[in-house]
Amino acid sequence: MEKPDNKKRNKKGSASLSTSTSSSPSNFIRNIIEEDVKAKKNNGRVHTRFPPEPNGYLHIGHAKSICLNFGLAAEYGGLCNLRFDDTNPTKEEVEYVESIKEDVRWLGFDWGDRLYYASDYFDQLYQYAVQLIKKGKAYVCDLSPDEIREYRGTLKEPGKNSPYRDRSVKENLDLFERMRAGEFGDGSRVLRAKIDMASGNLNMRDPVIYRILRATHHRTGDKWCVYPMYDFTHCLSDSIEGITHSICTLEFEDHRPLYDWFLDELKVFHPQQIEFARLNLSYTIMSKRKLLQLVEEGYVSGWDDPRMPTISGLRRRGYTPESIRNFSERIGVAKKDSMVDIALLEHCLRQDLNKRALRVMAVLHPLRVIIDNYPENQTEELEAINNPEDPDAGSRKIPFSRTIYIEREDFREDPPKKFFRLAPGREVRLKHAYFIQCEQVIKDDKTGEIVELHCTYDPKTKSGSAQNGRKVKGTLHWVSAKHCLPAEVRLYERLFTRENPDEDKDFKACLNPNSLETLKSCRVEPSLAGATPGSHYQFLRHGYFCVDPDSTKGQLVFNRTVSLRDTWAKIEKGQNK
Ligand code: ATP
Ligand code: MG
Repeated sequence: MEKPDNKKRNKKGSASLSTSTSSSPSNFIRNIIEEDVKAKKNNGRVHTRFPPEPNGYLHIGHAKSICLNFGLAAEYGGLCNLRFDDTNPTKEEVEYVESIKEDVRWLGFDWGDRLYYASDYFDQLYQYAVQLIKKGKAYVCDLSPDEIREYRGTLKEPGKNSPYRDRSVKENLDLFERMRAGEFGDGSRVLRAKIDMASGNLNMRDPVIYRILRATHHRTGDKWCVYPMYDFTHCLSDSIEGITHSICTLEFEDHRPLYDWFLDELKVFHPQQIEFARLNLSYTIMSKRKLLQLVEEGYVSGWDDPRMPTISGLRRRGYTPESIRNFSERIGVAKKDSMVDIALLEHCLRQDLNKRALRVMAVLHPLRVIIDNYPENQTEELEAINNPEDPDAGSRKIPFSRTIYIEREDFREDPPKKFFRLAPGREVRLKHAYFIQCEQVIKDDKTGEIVELHCTYDPKTKSGSAQNGRKVKGTLHWVSAKHCLPAEVRLYERLFTRENPDEDKDFKACLNPNSLETLKSCRVEPSLAGATPGSHYQFLRHGYFCVDPDSTKGQLVFNRTVSLRDTWAKIEKGQNK
């Protein structure tokens, strides 16, 4: 078994596991592990796992768990397994298994040869159940699901013993074997742990550990008609794999006594369960059930719709693995549920893209500008720096000619007070090019819409600087009409209008009707020819964009990943005052 290899990953170009902070901040899980390592518990071994159920695509909350589990293992020279928790054949699919593997890899983690499935342990789990029966610690119960619920009692009242609780070991062994052999109908009988129907913890009131279910499993096919329940499966899978620290979310805190009970009764290797608060993100839902609803009911184009909080959606939107890992580190782990501001996730993304994204010019709402005193058939190659944040990124040539496009909103016939862009008689700078002055506005006779502007340029202002110290306030981006490429640009807003969509009775009631705006007639500079899906750019003044896989040879398609305005940086500045 090999451990995730950081060095190899670095060579391939993606950042190392540790994030922007050079020394990782301490957190309570780290502290526990550190103590355990010091005390030589488990011979100082650290072994974690990420245990998704393959019933949907992974989301940003899972990313936190992945970063935590794989991150801690890497930090302490340990191992982390990827284990599919596949005990629910009716909801699970191979498509989900494949997407989960792709997403974990994309985030930059490597499970080596430790890819496991809970279904690999079905035989062993069955034997553990038999062992419990033999110990008098499990019994076959014939109550219906409704009756079981009724007998369970409430938080205030103790439960009642099932009338089948005192079946003999022999009878239980026989019935359980026949459950497995398919003699009984679905739901007609279950195997239950015999613990304590008066326990203050409802999970300890003789929980079901096996149910009868005729469903084809994505891996074991029709081999089984009895399936183990989550609580029974999870602790034993951890134990079988030698997991030392079983990190899970807070809702499992009340299940920990049961986790411990199974392992103690069966006298097997005993991992330690540690709970942390799950990630909640503002304006975002994370329930797989709800995300599935959005997909199935067509509110989004698929699991990887760039508005989805899924890892595949974030990837298509233009998020980088580094930004997500950095975000996970910065939010840390806590013992109490809270809501993280989505602005922090976007901030981490901007920080990363600022370093890596090449600056280019794209006009989203083109307005034609003819420079009357520029020679008709002339083209000039002007020098443009690729990324002022990255000296190694170099520069490129961009063509300039007589007819260009500027942004429609960069011209106002009647400019309001603080409008410093182009207006009749006014002079502005074209980025990387010349100063131009607006001489004439041409309108459509019928509609009155502005169709083009006529300008003059000053040849002495090449590269956007005037020799006589003449100043202009506005700098506009532009593209040369003859040389630019057509593009479709998709702009996104939040998918939900409420900070906490889960608070609504129907979370779909606060879906944002304006979450997607598609601009079909954009123009981008020619250096973008052949840009491949996933590549990142900063469109000057518009934000960060990435190439969508919908792009074809003739038509580039871009997603706006995130705008330039960093609300989080502002919040932070305010806090540091
Ligand atoms: P569901 O949405 O069906 O409740 P789930 O989100 O718990 O499912 P799993 O596949 O069981 O999905 O999750 C795999 C792992 O990811 C678990 O260890 C779980 O605790 C963790 N996880 C899930 N959601 C979050 C979250 N929002 N924040 C942190 N960890 C999470
Ligand atoms: Mg779960």
